[in-house]
Amino acid sequence: MGRETDFSVRFWGVRGSISCSGPETARYGGNTSSLEMRCGGKPLLFDAGSGLRYLGNGLLSQAPLDTDLFFTHTHFDHVCGLPFFKPLFQPQNRFRIWAGHLGGRMTLKQVLCEFMMSPLFPVPPEVFRADMSYNDFKAGETLNTPGGVTLRTAALNHPDGATGYRVEYGGRSICYITDTEHVPGVLDRNVLGLIDRADLVIYDCMYTDEEYARGGITGFGHSTWQEAVRLCRAAGAGKLAVFHHDPDRSDDALDAIGAAVAKEMPGAVVAREGMTLYV
Ligand SMILES: [Zn+2]
Ligand SMILES: [Zn+2]
Repeated sequence: MGRETDFSVRFWGVRGSISCSGPETARYGGNTSSLEMRCGGKPLLFDAGSGLRYLGNGLLSQAPLDTDLFFTHTHFDHVCGLPFFKPLFQPQNRFRIWAGHLGGRMTLKQVLCEFMMSPLFPVPPEVFRADMSYNDFKAGETLNTPGGVTLRTAALNHPDGATGYRVEYGGRSICYITDTEHVPGVLDRNVLGLIDRADLVIYDCMYTDEEYARGGITGFGHSTWQEAVRLCRAAGAGKLAVFHHDPDRSDDALDAIGAAVAKEMPGAVVAREGMTLYV
């Protein structure tokens, strides 16, 4: 369970856009976004991609849980694991679910009801047996969990919006910045403010600068590993984790990106399923 001072993040899904299983993606993993932070042993969950199902299976024995789940946004690759997260079916659990990108257009509850709706899905969110609360906030607000963890947030540049998070615990910080698109030549001030001198930055590195410059992917809402390096350098961030890998990126291609990014920023890593980082 970890010590009171431990602050860590474990990756349960690192892939962007759509899950991809198979021999070419087996080492880094093919599940979509799901993170488990641990603040002194207490879990804080981020996104509900297909990786969340595996995370949930591991949490079943830890009921009763009283836990928060924060969405960066509600694109399909970030919500598709929610109905398969078995702790939501344990009545002794309590979950607070959060989103900050919807801007009053819809509530998080409405979005999830429309996603789990006939004839697209067999059962509605009412099947969850845990004590659920659905919470909307505005990206930019600061959130405090009942467990005493502070989360600073910022709006990201993404179609339909997305929220970046900076989690602070015990004087250290982990930032989770995905799905976001950069403007070439202009460092995103929202991101810079959020990751200022952070210990660890997990960043949307779906593309390379070369791929982005070729065109055809502008407006898709994603960034590059080179932009992550530029942002981390400018902000004095400690460590970078390359995240939200393109589903077409093979393990070998990710190895090559890992070598290139570590040359630019010593200690940088490419996130893979099962990896735990401590700060
Ligand atoms: Zn995504
Ligand atoms: Zn997205």
